[in-house]
Amino acid sequence: MTETRMLPTFHARSAEDVLEALSAGRAGLTKDEAAGRLAESGPNRLPEPPKRSPLLRFLSHFHNVLIYVLIVSAAVTAALQHWVDTGVILAVVIVNAAIGYVQEGRAEKSMDAIRGMLAPRSAVLRDGRRISVDAADLVPGDVVLVEAGDRVPADLRVIEARGLKIEEAILTGESVPVDKGTAPAAEDAALGDRTSMLFSGTLVAAGAGRGVVTVTGPDTQIGRISGMLSRVETLTTPLVAQMDGFARWLTLFILIVAGALLTYGYFVGHLPFSDLFMAVVGLSVAAIPEGLPAVLTITLAVGVQAMARRNAIVRRLPAIETLGSVSVICSDKTGTLTRNEMMAATLAAAEHVYSVGGNGYSPEGAVRWREADVHPDDHRVLMEFARAAGLCNDAMLHAHEAGWRVEGDPMEGALVALAGKITREGAEPFRQWTRADAIPFDAARRYMAVLHHDDVGRACIHVKGAPEAVLALCENQRATHSKVEPLDTDYWHRMVESLAAEGQRVLAVATRSVSPDKTSLDTADIEGWLSLIGLIGLIDPPRAEAVTAVAECHAAGIRVKMITGDHAATARAIAGMIGLKNHDRVLTGADLDEMDDIALADAAVETDIFARTSPAHKLRLVTALQARGLTVAMTGDGVNDAPALKRADAGIAMGLKGSEAAKEAAEFVLADDNFASIAAAVREGRTVYDNIKKVISWTLPTNAGEALTIIVALFAGMALPITAVQILWVNLITAITLGLALAFEPSEPGTMRRPPRPRDEALLTGGLVWHIVLVSTLFLAAVFGMYFYAMDRGYPVSLSQTIAMNTLVVLEIFHLFFIRNIHGTSLNWTAVRGTRIVWACVLVVAAAQFAITYMPLLQPIFGTEAVQIFDGLLIMGVGAIFFALIETEKQMRLAFRRSELSGQIET
Ligand code: ATP
Repeated sequence: MTETRMLPTFHARSAEDVLEALSAGRAGLTKDEAAGRLAESGPNRLPEPPKRSPLLRFLSHFHNVLIYVLIVSAAVTAALQHWVDTGVILAVVIVNAAIGYVQEGRAEKSMDAIRGMLAPRSAVLRDGRRISVDAADLVPGDVVLVEAGDRVPADLRVIEARGLKIEEAILTGESVPVDKGTAPAAEDAALGDRTSMLFSGTLVAAGAGRGVVTVTGPDTQIGRISGMLSRVETLTTPLVAQMDGFARWLTLFILIVAGALLTYGYFVGHLPFSDLFMAVVGLSVAAIPEGLPAVLTITLAVGVQAMARRNAIVRRLPAIETLGSVSVICSDKTGTLTRNEMMAATLAAAEHVYSVGGNGYSPEGAVRWREADVHPDDHRVLMEFARAAGLCNDAMLHAHEAGWRVEGDPMEGALVALAGKITREGAEPFRQWTRADAIPFDAARRYMAVLHHDDVGRACIHVKGAPEAVLALCENQRATHSKVEPLDTDYWHRMVESLAAEGQRVLAVATRSVSPDKTSLDTADIEGWLSLIGLIGLIDPPRAEAVTAVAECHAAGIRVKMITGDHAATARAIAGMIGLKNHDRVLTGADLDEMDDIALADAAVETDIFARTSPAHKLRLVTALQARGLTVAMTGDGVNDAPALKRADAGIAMGLKGSEAAKEAAEFVLADDNFASIAAAVREGRTVYDNIKKVISWTLPTNAGEALTIIVALFAGMALPITAVQILWVNLITAITLGLALAFEPSEPGTMRRPPRPRDEALLTGGLVWHIVLVSTLFLAAVFGMYFYAMDRGYPVSLSQTIAMNTLVVLEIFHLFFIRNIHGTSLNWTAVRGTRIVWACVLVVAAAQFAITYMPLLQPIFGTEAVQIFDGLLIMGVGAIFFALIETEKQMRLAFRRSELSGQIET
């Protein structure tokens, strides 16, 4: 490999020369060679950007206004020689930073794992066969196959190119795709002019080709521009960012109020400075929701992990919130709603219609006509079907223990199997034919053409594609004995309709013989020159789980639409099996072309099936649906789907069959291409949003209640019912532990039976403000009530304060159980049983409360005294009353909303 480093001008040398220099051939490396070279060249990966040191990360948790306030307070208490207060404040600050540090580490780790799930793969020739490998395993000398939508996995010297266009903006800043070919470029060509090279990280915009890997990993051009890929995605969403901003302003507001109180109390109220100062510190700590951003970040990280478990990988975090409000899902058909396990079932020729037997992708099975097996010697058109199917094909079949598997497009795999069944030559028939040129499949053209030469000097073009597209290219048709007859267009159209009506995917195949000296293929060589061989009907059964998922979406008020490139009749048949709502009405791409934007918006809302569409239609449909105020999720796989995916509120790319271009444009990637995973992701999206809301609805009233307690006490000129040190403890340790439980909340039972949330729903809704007012007032009443009760019984102040503080914590726990079920009841066994995490948090908090209340070592620090058992029970009773009150209030509201909703339905 040292030689390759000394000769960096691959772009100026001929392809043969480069292959030789890399000791490689056009058939690629063997597996052993590749393994040997991998040990030498190292993985094809860019070095990780340097991470912030753990110390710096720990220190960053002190960068927070409240922490500054606390540190200043510690200094002031130290100056006043209140050593215990100073110690408690500092300890709390450090413990708080440690909790934040550990949580952040967990969140980051889960995000790293998610990124790892998106590791790119690459098609490569090993032992002369096309296989797919992890792009990190590529080595110099590997022959890589690229096609439109791929991201180039390493620096490659082009050895074969077909209309290859590459978008190199990432390297050159130039966003117009450049043509690439095999001819050497000038020695002194700038990066953007090296047309014989493909550079790692750039995007294949069109065409297909092969290249030999010249350098990998850090030696690539992108690897040399270090630091470029070290962008860090922060863990945030619009709602969390909004909350962050809100918390910052709230902090400032509270600090101003605290300053005013301090001035008022000292100069007007003539209170002793040290008591007043501690009270004001307590107020600041009580009112500022400092733990909130951290808990929200964890909530997101938990949501991201939950989605990944359900095969939906989040690429852009803000979309997690959007997903919960999706009201329309536009899905592809093939592979998403159907299994994409294809099998050729019918062959329709000019005279006969044959059925094909067999199992899966196994290249064995009988072709039958009128219940009897037939032989290609008697039905010569069958051999033409086989040749077209076998040659106009880029897929390969591999035998595995569990059966046959496809490398490449499953439909093409089914065609290889078909060719094997007819020729009885297994998975690699027609080896005597070599491909001279090809026109790759393109979703707008809807056909693929190849030019082959065989070993006895014949040359032949084969075309396969959508029947309308192929019929338009044909001049005549072949009959069973390969006679040539005029094309009977009506017959073929009727045949297409009847196969498609059974849900079969229909392809037409055609051929043309050409002169042996022809070596290149152009659209002009086929237009109007082909002879139609016939139609191939392929079955692709719907996914059983998609049927359930569609029903679940309908129950959740989400409309499901199918947007497919397939034939209208096939789409209608599959839509019927899947259970789409309006499956009699189909609009085709051509219909859409005739509509203006307003007509399109109406049609898009009412219709659920769109057939024979191209990617441009997807973009128009998303825009039309959005114009009607709908929140649209859209799936896509091809390079041309990128604009529609970007435009959609939630763009979802296919992980298995999707191109890199689609994945990069999308917010989500489906690891298993399965529609059911979209429905699962929507459920998780709703859950994350609910949990964010729950965390907020739990934290804000808690803070408000604590702050009110101190303010009222200050204005009443009485001793604080809960001391500043105790407030510090409750707020920075207890509250964060309890709040964290909400980040892990599972979906509430009715999550997918509610209509989608309006897209622009505000965070501080009237409902939330009311909840804050109600709960903080109840907190205030309960804390003061218990404090006065204790004082009334003649308890010392410190015991009364201990009782009041424990009341506050018990109320927080009851409030937690209430918040867990904001949409349903908290009064059944499931609600009480809670989750393991909830109970773990409650037990930790209870243990901590017992410790500071009863441990003689801690009592002087927190100013506490042991509480009698009767008073303990009383505290629990107050908690239960509080719970009963807010639960009844919720049930009243829910009942009212239900009657309002049913009223709306009736009118
Ligand atoms: P979906 O959008 O639901 O995934 P699709 O896979 O049917 O649908 P396209 O890939 O755009 O959509 O295919 C459109 C049509 O083009 C197909 O119905 C088929 O007739 C034809 N076609 C698809 N793939 C090929 C191919 N590799 N070679 C030739 N024709 C093809």
